[in-house]
Amino acid sequence: MDDNKIFLSESEMPQAWYNINPDLPAPLKPPLHPATGEPIGPEMLAPIFPMALIEQEMSMERWIDIPDDVMDVLKIWRPSPLQRAFRLEKELGTPARIYYKNESVSPAGSHKPNTAVAQAYYNKMEGVERITTETGAGQWGSALSFACQIFDIACEVYMVRVSFEQKPYRRLLMETWGGTCYSSPTDRTEAGRAILAENPDTPGSLGIAISEAVEDAVKHENTKYSLGSVLNHVLMHQTITGLEMKKQFAIADDYPDMIVGCVGGGSNFAGFTFPYMKEKMDGEREIEIIAVEPTACPTLTRGLYNYDFGDNAQMTPLLKMFTLGHKFVPAPIHAGGLRYHGAAPQLSLLVNQGVIEARAVQQQGVFEAALMFARTEGHLPAPETSHAIRVAIDEAVKCRETGEEKCIVIGYSGHGHFDLSAYENFLSGKLVDYALPQEEIDAARDYLCQWE
Ligand SMILES: *Cc1c(COP(=O)(O)O)cnc(C)c1O
Repeated sequence: MDDNKIFLSESEMPQAWYNINPDLPAPLKPPLHPATGEPIGPEMLAPIFPMALIEQEMSMERWIDIPDDVMDVLKIWRPSPLQRAFRLEKELGTPARIYYKNESVSPAGSHKPNTAVAQAYYNKMEGVERITTETGAGQWGSALSFACQIFDIACEVYMVRVSFEQKPYRRLLMETWGGTCYSSPTDRTEAGRAILAENPDTPGSLGIAISEAVEDAVKHENTKYSLGSVLNHVLMHQTITGLEMKKQFAIADDYPDMIVGCVGGGSNFAGFTFPYMKEKMDGEREIEIIAVEPTACPTLTRGLYNYDFGDNAQMTPLLKMFTLGHKFVPAPIHAGGLRYHGAAPQLSLLVNQGVIEARAVQQQGVFEAALMFARTEGHLPAPETSHAIRVAIDEAVKCRETGEEKCIVIGYSGHGHFDLSAYENFLSGKLVDYALPQEEIDAARDYLCQWE
């Protein structure tokens, strides 16, 4: 088949999300209470999440139906196209077939509305009137603002300070969709005030912003908190992308030999790849699944597989995951969405079991790949997405040398229209490579050992 785009019709869309829990190669370790270290039950999560999402978080059902009201909203942009990167292939002179599943066509320009819409819906069903959250580069805050607007819920976003200052357009997008955005740390919460007292010039971090958003939710009536990545239910909502992709590959009469995706918390990656994981683990199909992260935040490649908090103030439950430690403050690299200290427990388990391979790449190489993609395929990728493009290009170049006709799929998580200042830095030669010093990982090992 030599079509540029493989479309599904709306009537062919998957009707249920895929929950990988029953198919994991080992049981997930339970989340632990932040103070007692004992496994927690649903009641501990009830102050911050609606019951329906808590049930999904712990569910062992393989398929969970997508409610009609969620589907109606997803259909604004779904199904998203699976595209063949013919021009990139030609530029590389590779015998590989390169595809990308294009999630940049959503209103917010990334995969994030897939879960934002579902989460806003379940909150609405349980009478929630106000949702708090954190955002790094602003993609999650804008996706949730969009979704809350549709379901008539107030959305309050704690945005990591460095991004708040560097990326005013994302904030304006949130405000356009009716959201409210604060530069975190703020003086609105105890967690924020404590950090500001200690270090008034802090660039902020996702861990700090999460502490603020959770505290705000716990202390206000009819308010819940929402997380855009990491948790099981979030990853599950994203599986619609991989499920669509499977149907599209059937239409194209092709099958991926390799899927490459970028990892921040792990949600877009899980969405593209989890629907393929069972056939890989059962040995039905040989498929390489590669998770790509920045060398500046090498959670999966160099982090510790340990229990850790999701946030800086040690308020969230402890999750067993790959982590750089909850005190991690990332270097201000340009892939804002890939700077979280942890990674999803489900994904971490699969990396730990060797089912998924992880690689880290430097940001200059990432932007070189982004530029090549933009100049061949036209679409301008997000810096996060470009991590996956970097590895896909490297693999396609290997195919040129070996003559292998591999089918390589890029999880195209979003566009880079709000990241042009990063492109400017790259084009003017100001972008430098950076790898996390080993001392910082060793320091995390020291303070995390108490939660092993
Ligand atoms: C947020 C974001 C990511 C990283 O988050 P995950 O939960 O790992 O998917 C990657 N790409 C884009 C475009 C994003 O907006």
